[in-house]
Amino acid sequence: MQVDAEKCVGCGQCIPFCPVDARSLGRLPGHGRVTLIIDSDRCAECGVCLRSGICPTDAMYQEALEMPRLIRAILSDPLIEFKATGVPGRGTEEIKTNEITGRIRFGYAGVGIEMGRPGVSTSWEDVQEVTRAMAKLGVGFCEGNPVTHFMADRNTGDLEPDVVKEKSLSAIIEFDVSLEKLPEVLRVLQEITPQLETVYTLEVSCKVHPDGTLPVLPIIEQAGYTVLPNSKNNLGMGRPRFREPGEEGVA
Ligand code: SF4
Ligand code: SF4
Repeated sequence: MQVDAEKCVGCGQCIPFCPVDARSLGRLPGHGRVTLIIDSDRCAECGVCLRSGICPTDAMYQEALEMPRLIRAILSDPLIEFKATGVPGRGTEEIKTNEITGRIRFGYAGVGIEMGRPGVSTSWEDVQEVTRAMAKLGVGFCEGNPVTHFMADRNTGDLEPDVVKEKSLSAIIEFDVSLEKLPEVLRVLQEITPQLETVYTLEVSCKVHPDGTLPVLPIIEQAGYTVLPNSKNNLGMGRPRFREPGEEGVA
């Protein structure tokens, strides 16, 4: 995001709209008046300031972003669609659309590690810290997820070197893992948490068993996490529901 110093009248009305405190008033070198200054390192390119429409002089503008900086906007601005996944925003449809894709089967869990929040943001160094730790456990990173897309090596969890220097309001690491390996995933995540300079939300999903139980529940509770059970399904998207082999109507 940029501010045209000639148009800006230094009113400061846009400052509270920035979720990462990247905006402040000051004097640019050689510029007499107080003007709005954006800390480009902190700016997550979320577009909130511009979309607010608060500026009385139309002084803000979004310059064309190139990679790797473009990744900030892809992961932080919900109006930008990431061409490689076709999904606006940070994540994919994979886990919550499981009733259609059938990616997470009985005996497996889908894991989402949602790093950063508005007001905190996440560096991609922290994202890489987690992807590397999870890759060592042999998890299957989700296709079509922006974090997976920016991996240089899915076996090591290494991200592309220029992407590691970037940050975004948040980023979701998504993978599936067998129920046998899930305790190890939760243990390792707890181990590396003190090294992370951001917050994260852990999402663990699975298919509800025919007897109505959720096999991941006791595993998560045993690992010491507080569980907030939730259900989110993307059905009715013009695609048929996935059916397990042996289900009625399936050969
Ligand atoms: S684009 Fe977002 S992060 Fe950057 S200055 Fe505007 S509100 Fe702040
Ligand atoms: S709202 Fe517009 S004029 Fe006021 S400080 Fe922000 S950019 Fe400058």
